[in-house]
Parts: sequence; C-alpha cells; structure tokens
Amino acid sequence: MSLAPFPRAASETGDPLLLTPGPLTTSRSVKEVMVHDWGSRDATFLKINKAVLERLPEIVNGAGTHVTVPMQGSGTFAVEAMLTSFVPASGKVLVLINGAYGHRAKRILDIAGRATVVHETPEDTPPDLAAVEAILAKDPAITHVFAVHCETTSGIRNPIEAIAALVARHRRRLLIDAMSAFGALPLDAAASPFDAVAASSNKCIEGVPGFGFVICRRDALAETKGNATTLVLDLHDQWQGFEKTGQFRFTPPIHVIVSFHQALEEFLAEGGVAGRGGRYAENGKVLIDGMRALGFETLLPDALQAPIIVTFHMPRDPAFVFQRFYDGLKERGFVIYPGKLTVADSFRIGCIGRLYPKDLHAALAAVRAVLADMGVATPLARAA
Ligand SMILES: *Cc1c(COP(=O)(O)O)cnc(C)c1O
Repeated sequence: MSLAPFPRAASETGDPLLLTPGPLTTSRSVKEVMVHDWGSRDATFLKINKAVLERLPEIVNGAGTHVTVPMQGSGTFAVEAMLTSFVPASGKVLVLINGAYGHRAKRILDIAGRATVVHETPEDTPPDLAAVEAILAKDPAITHVFAVHCETTSGIRNPIEAIAALVARHRRRLLIDAMSAFGALPLDAAASPFDAVAASSNKCIEGVPGFGFVICRRDALAETKGNATTLVLDLHDQWQGFEKTGQFRFTPPIHVIVSFHQALEEFLAEGGVAGRGGRYAENGKVLIDGMRALGFETLLPDALQAPIIVTFHMPRDPAFVFQRFYDGLKERGFVIYPGKLTVADSFRIGCIGRLYPKDLHAALAAVRAVLADMGVATPLARAA
C-alpha cells in the first residue's frame, strides 16, 4: 500500500470529510455549542428556538407571510408532515417524479389514502412542463402539485420557478421538497408562490441531523386544521402549540436546535444563499473539472446540474472496483456516496457541507492515488 506519503484529509475535528448529501461535515463551532444542557420548557431554550423559527422564512423571502413549523425527526418526517397536513382527505396531488424522493412522496400519499396522479420522467430529465400543464388543464380534481427542488438521487436541479408559475396560473397549490437545496439554491416565496416548503437541519444550513422544518404560507396553514392523519405529524397542531405557549408539544431535539442556531449564524455570516450557494458552486466546479480531466463522465449536462451532489458514471475499466475505490478514499479521509440510480451504474460525490475548494482539490488528489493503487489507467477510456 502506498498510503504513507499521502496526507490524510480531515475535518476540523479530525474526522474524515463527508462528500455526501447530508448528514455532512459541520464546523467545529456547530458541534461545540452542544456541550450544555437546556430545559425544553425553559426560557433560555425557547428564546433560541424562537430565533431559529423566525429567521428561516427570511431565507425564502417569506418574512411576514410565512411561518416555520419544525418537526422532530429526519427530513422525511417533515415531508410526511407537510403532505399529510396540507392535503385534505378530499384532495388530489399531482406528484412530479424524477428520482427516489419523488417516489417517496407518492408512497407517503398512498399510505395516507390521498389521491394522486403521477408525472414521471427519467432521473436525468426534468419534468415536461407542457405535459404537466395538460394534466392540470384536464383534471380539475387536482388540488396540489408536489415537486422536488434538487432531486438528490441524481443531483438534478428541477425548474422550481417555472413549476411554481405554472401551478399558480392554474390556481393549484404547490408543495416543495427543497431538502438538499434550501440555503444553497435561491427560492423566493413572493416570486414563486408555494403553500409549503420542507427542508432539514443537516443539509445546506450545515447543522447536525435531528429535525426537519416546513415553511408554510400562514393563510394556507390556517386552513389545514383537522387534515392530519397522525397526531405527531400534525403541522397545524404543532404550529398552534407554538402560537399558544412557544413550546414544542413533545420533547424537542434541543441540542440539535441550539446547534442549528449556530449554523444559521454561520450561514448568514457567509452571505446567506448567495455566499453559501457560491461556495458550493465553486466546489462543484473544481470537482467536475477535476473528475472530467481524469476521464470520469457526469450523468447530467452542466445546465441541469445543481451544485449539491454530482453523479458520475461507473468507469468501464475492469480494474475499477467501486468498493476498493470507496475504501481507498475513506482511508485518505474522504467519504463518498454510492449511486441510487435506476438509469445507470453510478456513484455520487457531494460538494456541500463545511468543504472548501481546497478540500475538493485534495479529494481529487486522493482519487488519483486510489486509481493508481487499483491499477486503473487515466484518463479513463470513454464509455462507448
Ligand atoms: C435528504 C433528503 C430528504 C430527507 O431524507 P432523510 O433521510 O429523511 O433526512 C428528502 N428529500 C430530499 C430531496 C433529500 O435530499
């Protein structure tokens, strides 16, 4: 093994860098604020929680019109809370699918007994807006449209502004899963109307995992009383709890929320969406340029690629063994992500989290070293 001369990369706390779509590498300060205890109904925590809830709508230009309802659990808990609270029993949802998260939304709605109609495109293809328009025009029973902003399955950036405009023109309601895009890709509630957008603590705001949140148009949320199919995921009830007492109904992930407060401070200090999204775009460019120079091919053309996570085709060279590639990178301090595609054999490398262009340059050096160890010649042979 030729490991010795290769400097092992590490985060500020000495752990491998996570080149994954979240949980991701966080700053030392985001972790350090957690070494305390707070009472869940005590004023100190409630004040921090209130500041978090008030700040989030500002990120999507929704201050004054939108409110944040946090939900304990991972991001999917927030998506399920959003769908089952906003869509009434009499509702019908047009689900736009081009990856695993669109399929997951459909499954949530099926389990909740909500009617759906699906518009599905391949994982490397955005929705066909003319087809979406035709579906809306001919089916007046459709009340809501569900869309994923960045489909993390491939890393594709779906045209959320055009989708929002289309949905508004047809006087339907839009529900967005912006989990992996929130804080990195712009979304403007005034220009692109939506009833709710779901995201989570451990993606582009760079907090630790433990809760999701739904930013809701206040007037739309007010109409959702009694829609929920479960007690715990009832967004209206959760919201009413905050309105009445400022408190969670059930035990909150206190440390995660305090740490998320710190992450938001760091997000704002970096310049908000422009600063954070700008750094990720630089990371993505370094990664893609460097991998292409080695002969790797991206699934997506640059015009469809979000600066979040990049899908690469698996090289054809029989000497390339993904598990060895993965393990070799891990030993050198980089954790990457397997592929989840049905259209192509692939793997993914994320460019979000506490990562800077220098970290992506270091990751590329590690990729070169691991390929050499495996005896894979570069540049790789082009796929046929
Ligand atoms: C991460 C993510 C989720 C939530 O996944 P969890 O594992 O439940 O946190 C949902 N949608 C998208 C697009 C995501 O990237």
